[in-house]
Amino acid sequence: QMTDVGEMMEDVVDRFSLQLRQKAITVKVEVDPNLAKVWIDRDGIDQVLDNIVSNAIKYTLDGGSVRLTAGPTESGQLSVSVRDTGIGIPKKDLAHIFDRFYRVDKARSRNMGGTGLGLSIAREIVRANGGIILLDSEPGVGTTVTVTLPMVQEGSEYA
Ligand code: ATP
Ligand code: MG
Repeated sequence: QMTDVGEMMEDVVDRFSLQLRQKAITVKVEVDPNLAKVWIDRDGIDQVLDNIVSNAIKYTLDGGSVRLTAGPTESGQLSVSVRDTGIGIPKKDLAHIFDRFYRVDKARSRNMGGTGLGLSIAREIVRANGGIILLDSEPGVGTTVTVTLPMVQEGSEYA
């Protein structure tokens, strides 16, 4: 569907407004003005963002911040990223983070709820759309998840 990415990101954030308020987490959404409406799998990407933002909030301490940005890459793909100031992920866990049911430190995550499926589902959807998902993290500093995928901007022809 033709999608206003900024609007889609605001909608995702709105769905978490209660948790955001409870944890006093501030959110910023920034869209590159060069990004027109884009033709993407809106429902799929919405679910991907939902999973990533849910993690950003769940693994960020009270008073932290989450920033969503979107824009075109140099090669004309859509790049969407979610950066948090959360607890981060240890280097040794990064290689497994997209595996099904994988969770860092089971004791830590047990009382947070969840099954360890969010990121593996996100990766499946992104791959099905011909894109990639990257995760960068530094323990105690924060995590950035970036999704890059093909798009067609409104006003351009494609075949
Ligand atoms: P579910 O998404 O099924 O509710 P989950 O959040 O534990 O459960 P994933 O979303 O797949 O599962 O994430 C896997 C693990 O990666 C999490 O348990 C958590 O340890 C770690 N993780 C994911 N995102 C972040 C983040 N933004 N900051 C810190 N750790 C994260
Ligand atoms: Mg999750």
